[in-house]
Amino acid sequence: MKVVKFGGSSLASAQQFRKVIQIIKDDSARKIVVVSAPGKRFSQDEKVTDLLISIANKSLAKQDFSNEMNKVVYRYQEIADELHLDEQVMEMIRLNLNELVAGDKKVPKYYIDAFKASGEDNNAKLVAAYFNQEGVLASYVNPQAAGLLVTDEPDNARVLPESYDTLEKLRSRNEVLVFPGFFGYTKEGRLCTFSRGGSDITGAILANGVEAELYENFTDVDAIFAANPAVVKDPIPVAELTYREMRELSYAGFSVLHDEALEPAFKKGIPVVIKNTNNPASPGTKIVKEHTKEHAPIIGIASSSGFINIYIEKYLMNREIGFGRKVLQLLESHGLSYEHTPSGIDNMTVILRGHQMTPEIELALIKSLKEKLLVDSVTIERDVSLIMLVGEGMRNQIGTMAIAAQALRDRQINIDMVNQGASENSVMFGIKEKEEDRAVEALYHAFFEESL
Ligand code: ASP
Repeated sequence: MKVVKFGGSSLASAQQFRKVIQIIKDDSARKIVVVSAPGKRFSQDEKVTDLLISIANKSLAKQDFSNEMNKVVYRYQEIADELHLDEQVMEMIRLNLNELVAGDKKVPKYYIDAFKASGEDNNAKLVAAYFNQEGVLASYVNPQAAGLLVTDEPDNARVLPESYDTLEKLRSRNEVLVFPGFFGYTKEGRLCTFSRGGSDITGAILANGVEAELYENFTDVDAIFAANPAVVKDPIPVAELTYREMRELSYAGFSVLHDEALEPAFKKGIPVVIKNTNNPASPGTKIVKEHTKEHAPIIGIASSSGFINIYIEKYLMNREIGFGRKVLQLLESHGLSYEHTPSGIDNMTVILRGHQMTPEIELALIKSLKEKLLVDSVTIERDVSLIMLVGEGMRNQIGTMAIAAQALRDRQINIDMVNQGASENSVMFGIKEKEEDRAVEALYHAFFEESL
């Protein structure tokens, strides 16, 4: 049994629905179909989810939302009309949207989540109706009825582990099951969505629950590429990645799959394949527990901007037991989450995502570092980018760092920080944000072109 997830662009129009049904017909093991809300048909288009969020916010603020509401209804209507679907489905969708408007506004976050989730929920009903009309026996499955339980965290829910046992029962159903992505229900019966892009998570949860042989994630790219195609011209596709490698790449900016979507698959060792709805014949990228094929030491190069360095100096820091803990505790007390802490003998750098550091927090943090920890100096450096070289194959491989450093040197790019964990799955460089694209290009050239 395979779990198949289709993203927003794969379900954005009637034409896309036709491709989706063909993919399901092509393989009878594709039994569970997770769907997103209709996404963009072209780059300037609006996503149904964004329109729904706007409706919910305007409704809460007692503003007119008829324009957005018409657009949402029209998106579904257009698909239904083009596919000649029974009017009944559209009636159901309209009714649902009206009910949502009249819903409980006491806690705005729940109100907004209910709207957001309807994007996938109504699309799942549309997909199921279409499948049945075209002779693919299918049922819409409600996540509450199926037992997808989540934490009570609107907009950022996480699956509760007890869900898996209940979801396992879906295995025994014979028809194709169409399951809306992106949300579940708390134990108290409240709807909560995952974070944005969370339909990927639903697919992985179901794959885990039914112990699928494979989780196929259909999107609009042929594969995961070794570097960002917006930065490097025609980067090579990656045929196979391990969960660990994928995790490191998505940490530093590879956004093909939701960051949290790997864990449920990883736990049961279920392989994940990224495939293209518009080109299903392309093999895509397979994410697995251990490599099964020959592979280069470096599998991909990712980069991410917007970090800041807090550089702390204190003479004889190395003698002071608990200093690092106290620094991190101070950060915690200011609500700051940190990423890395490379250190020297009398200095320590804390790297964090810059958006958290407001001017007020910055002032307060510097003050407490100086007054409470008696540090000699604190310097805050902004506009830092992290570049990650990722590949389990670099373990015990001599010279990886030398190639990387040489490539950056040749382009006169200064390395501000290097971080390599003992696991040797990745090497991370901190550089100035303005050098980011050049650095990725230089490293790609060194590892994927020159070494061929
Ligand atoms: N439709 C939701 C979003 O745009 C969830 C998803 O597509 O995965 O974030």
